[in-house]
Amino acid sequence: MKLFQCSNCENPVVFENSICISCGHYLGYSSFHNQIVSLDPNQSEWSIPSFNGDTYKYCTNNLHGTCNWLVTPDENYGFCLACSLNRTIPDLDTSENWERWKQIEFAKHRLVYQLLRLRLPIVSKMANSHIGLCFDFVSIENKDNKKTGHVNGVITILITEADAATREKVKQEMKEHYRTLLGHFRHEVGHYFRDRLVRDNRKALSNFREVFGDDTVSYQDSLQNYYANGSKQNWQNFYISKYASSHAWEDWAET
Ligand SMILES: [Zn+2]
Ligand SMILES: [Zn+2]
Ligand SMILES: [Zn+2]
Repeated sequence: MKLFQCSNCENPVVFENSICISCGHYLGYSSFHNQIVSLDPNQSEWSIPSFNGDTYKYCTNNLHGTCNWLVTPDENYGFCLACSLNRTIPDLDTSENWERWKQIEFAKHRLVYQLLRLRLPIVSKMANSHIGLCFDFVSIENKDNKKTGHVNGVITILITEADAATREKVKQEMKEHYRTLLGHFRHEVGHYFRDRLVRDNRKALSNFREVFGDDTVSYQDSLQNYYANGSKQNWQNFYISKYASSHAWEDWAET
């Protein structure tokens, strides 16, 4: 992730900073301009000369300390592009859940930043239920027994994945080299974009099968086989991870 600069004092600042520790100005990120700007701490709406003089305010989730993105006053009910994708957020009754959600939001904002750089289409499922994308951040004892995964544009993330100790434990149990929140987001959003960009496009699907293999074999059976018998032999020669050898869709998402 690139370093940004406070536009008031030129101090280097990072993507998640909402205040400049050098000059004390607020900081806000514009996904449209891909810039962080410094803001007068005595105001709540800012007319920003470098953004054509348009007026901006913080995304509503700034109230929770989970977002430093800027929105125009009429945008998405006050939510930025990244936060407009949230369908379910954790119950914020406990500080533990708030801390987990904050870590999840940091990772999700980095994901959306990267999707924008890749010029991938980002549409909220709440705006378009057919092709849109949304996130459910749920606790492990959620009523539908949902797990981290992707189904039809809905990406579920179990909030315990935000606990470093829990994540490390699972990583060791599954003998993984890499397990991060951002990694989960990248993997699951990969499934979403395969559905959107590859599944119904004959040419793209043929290219997909050339690289990732036959995806017409049963996905359920393949995963069952993977969990019962482990990865394919010599997977290192053909796949980016063990799990990628389970099925062509997982190969794509892992890659
Ligand atoms: Zn500054
Ligand atoms: Zn936001
Ligand atoms: Zn997957």
